[in-house]
Amino acid sequence: MTRKYSDCFYCGGAVDERLMPRELRWQGQLFIFENVPLGVCTQCGEKFVGPEVAKAIDQVLREKKKPTSMVQVPVYQYEADVV
Ligand SMILES: [Zn+2]
Repeated sequence: MTRKYSDCFYCGGAVDERLMPRELRWQGQLFIFENVPLGVCTQCGEKFVGPEVAKAIDQVLREKKKPTSMVQVPVYQYEADVV
């Protein structure tokens, strides 16, 4: 199923659907969704989330659905670890 996207909000370019990873934070935790159908501008690369995709992701977070896999994410403190 391919959604229809309106032209890019920023540059007016055509927006195509692609499967992309999407990271978001919810209740202080980082969540990674892979192969999310997102609208991507063919000119400037801006990404757009369709309303039904946003709703579906929201639902997964609220229901605390079991993820396919878990990853460990390295965390750095800028003051202590970077400089
Ligand atoms: Zn654009």
